[in-house]
Amino acid sequence: MDGLKEKVRIVPDFPKKGISFKDITTLLKDKEAYHYVIKELAAGLNDIDLVVGPEARGFVIGAPLAYELYAGFVLVRKPGKLPAATIKYEYELEYGTDALEIHRDAIIPGQRVVVADDLLATGGTAYSVVKLVQSLGAEVVAIRFVMELTDLAGRERLSEFKDCDIKSLI
Ligand code: 5GP
Repeated sequence: MDGLKEKVRIVPDFPKKGISFKDITTLLKDKEAYHYVIKELAAGLNDIDLVVGPEARGFVIGAPLAYELYAGFVLVRKPGKLPAATIKYEYELEYGTDALEIHRDAIIPGQRVVVADDLLATGGTAYSVVKLVQSLGAEVVAIRFVMELTDLAGRERLSEFKDCDIKSLI
């Protein structure tokens, strides 16, 4: 689709000075662009049991992708948000740590899973989601992003997942 990149609004100094935020809300509200993105992310994926997406924008991409693939959708959330028993993956930030959680019973070992999010930056979020899914015994066959910031080397962070097909559209 021509001009897809231009549908994403760049917001300087958000959430703090020096950061140029890629705002996908301007893409999402465009019905043709949103539809195109979901169709393209689904292309070539077959026999997928589940799509797993981290809050919050991973829901906005992952849930329609799951619907398109006739797969289920599983939420990954910040600690304390999921109501039933969870497992947690903690990861390092520049200062301190953060964590993501998934329901323990969300995935059956051996299921074929796609991880989806809006944007790949350093890769820390996607890495954590893949680790959570793998620790429940499932196979992550693909990771899909709308956008990738290539200077931040997120692909390298994900390079240990050799059998996983990684694709972004912008
Ligand atoms: P990473 O963990 O790869 O460094 O950062 C990616 C995660 O942070 C994604 O879940 C994404 O939603 C969020 N994120 C980081 N920077 C941006 C940005 O500029 N725009 C958007 N839309 N999300 C971002």
